[in-house]
Amino acid sequence: MKSGAAGGVDSVVLTTCPRDCYDACGIAVVKRDGAIRHVRGDRNHPVSRGRLCRKCSIGYNGAFLDPEARLTRPLRRVGAKGSAQFEPVSWDEATAGIAERLERIVDGPGSHTILNAHYTGTFSLLAYFFPLRFFRRLGATEVDPDTICNKAGHVALDYMYGTSLVGFDPRTARDSRCVLVWGANPSASAPHADEHWLSESPARTIVVDPVRTPTAAKADLHLQPFPGSDAALAFALLHVISRDGLIDRDFVESYTLGFEEIEPLLANWTPQRGEERTGVPAELIEQAAALYGQGPSLLWLGQGFQRQRMGGNAVRACALLPALTGNLGKPGSGFLYLNGTESRGIDEDYLAGSHLGSDVPEPISHMDLVDCLEDRRQSQALFCWNINIAASNPQQARLHAALRRDDLLTVAIDLFATDTTDFADFVLPAASFLEFDDLVASYFQLTLSAQVKAAEPMGEALPNTEIFRRLARAMGYREPELYETDATVIETTLRRSGVALDFAALSARGTISIADDPIVQFAQLRFPTPSGRVELASDRAEADGLPRSPLPLSDDRPPADHLRLLSPASPWLLNDSFANDPKVARRIGPASVALHPEDASARGLAEGAEVVVANETGSVRLLVTLSDAIPRGVAYSPKGRWPKQEPGRANVNALNPGESADMGKSTSVHGVHVTVSAA
Ligand code: SF4
Repeated sequence: MKSGAAGGVDSVVLTTCPRDCYDACGIAVVKRDGAIRHVRGDRNHPVSRGRLCRKCSIGYNGAFLDPEARLTRPLRRVGAKGSAQFEPVSWDEATAGIAERLERIVDGPGSHTILNAHYTGTFSLLAYFFPLRFFRRLGATEVDPDTICNKAGHVALDYMYGTSLVGFDPRTARDSRCVLVWGANPSASAPHADEHWLSESPARTIVVDPVRTPTAAKADLHLQPFPGSDAALAFALLHVISRDGLIDRDFVESYTLGFEEIEPLLANWTPQRGEERTGVPAELIEQAAALYGQGPSLLWLGQGFQRQRMGGNAVRACALLPALTGNLGKPGSGFLYLNGTESRGIDEDYLAGSHLGSDVPEPISHMDLVDCLEDRRQSQALFCWNINIAASNPQQARLHAALRRDDLLTVAIDLFATDTTDFADFVLPAASFLEFDDLVASYFQLTLSAQVKAAEPMGEALPNTEIFRRLARAMGYREPELYETDATVIETTLRRSGVALDFAALSARGTISIADDPIVQFAQLRFPTPSGRVELASDRAEADGLPRSPLPLSDDRPPADHLRLLSPASPWLLNDSFANDPKVARRIGPASVALHPEDASARGLAEGAEVVVANETGSVRLLVTLSDAIPRGVAYSPKGRWPKQEPGRANVNALNPGESADMGKSTSVHGVHVTVSAA
């Protein structure tokens, strides 16, 4: 503590950012006389090094602290569904009103007609997992959160490696000669990893991305395949690796299964053929293959390139690279999709109460949510928490219409009045991460961090945990797991994890690594597949009706006059968080679509032109920007804007038909075709 410039008393609370972001930055919350004055990066934190990303720096000091922007009281609908007309009610009135409707549904059509839609709005462990205890006890149907993001990649890696959640330790990059970033844009989704980890690595970097992102622009090699041709590019790289004797035959023989089914496929995929199918110059394919193949190499598999029709196949094809080159089980090698909590010893089953409820229905996909909401037999109630489906989901126009159903009990939990809360019958105000204790497990670094309460919840807002304790009480449930306090859950989680620290000790340290030295991924070269080997060809995939092994497929190019739409992360938004912050909104400006100058010229469009971007699913009006960072044939419009803030009350997801990818009923949002014409 010390005296501040204005004579008040300053104190600093160290906490952790729990956004859906690779970085998990350490945060310093500066308080004066008990009130938050400033939220900034923790100077001593190894990731944030004193700076937050631009969006969080603005948002955490803006909308997150603004009582006018925050939801501060429970609300009950008084106007037409979707009109956002509410009256404030007490917590008891809100939870009793919700419970009364839920009980009628449970006794009538059944609890499986209650849908539980959630995602990563606040991605700390208790805020994410604890509410699942309530839904399991209730017997609700979960809308599988991964299906809106990355499920195809999880399924693909599970076939081949038995897990998608054991990645390389980023610290092992000190022993790498090559880091290959495939289909990720850390400059937007992991800004500190981009600025520090990638740039400071002694390794040479290869980026595979259709767009010349800032990460791609500074890479040693940038391969720019047309979207949907990743698998073909992987096979072209493997052709060169094989031709040049860089297949690690001993490794393949000892630790993989099915190479004899892959090897014949490599012969035809010459760099020239790769160039024809992907647009990547043969010379670049040669250079990248030599660099990666010689190793030790790391492969960062992003989320972006699996969001397409054959996204699972694409991930399987890329995931051949480490196995065939022996880039596994030694320092400086490996791959990463996500580092799951298991590596930190986190007991997700305990957190989520997996034992509760005897008859839990099969989850549904976000790709099927609209169909489900349009069918009264399948859906009588919808909970949305940690998610804003009215902004983030496909089939936006149909979804908004379905959410107007008067008979659908809709409960939305959020910090802010989003598009989704506008459709709710009850809106419950959630506390921000600055207002409760929790734990954060980065899905990149192998660390565990404390999220420390820095202020009381704003108004009557409550942490997710307490909201679901109150709902459980209103339902008359008796299971003690539904009422465990946050402190008990945190201490139990820490004790089971084996970190040998209580929360006070972890808070004092902020962030800890789970090992002093870099951990070697798959050091024992045992893989959690049925065979214990890397299953290049998979009986399980075949049994699921999929090809036994990855194939060198590429999507057809869009039909004449059409462009392939990419709607990835904006550096100014995190999913759809921060779009409502006025300063962020000013920075991102009006909604736009970036085109290659030649595509714009072919359509008679100049910079700033207003255009209609359309397909059979919907249309949006956007302003054109010109950029040669975008390949020909692509329209680029970042996601995350809020429909109700747009002139046409729709964002880019109005164009997404919600077609499922080849695996996991996952999104194929980057496979959408559109026309772009002058408005
Ligand atoms: S969103 Fe990511 S980069 Fe931004 S402050 Fe949070 S952890 Fe750091």
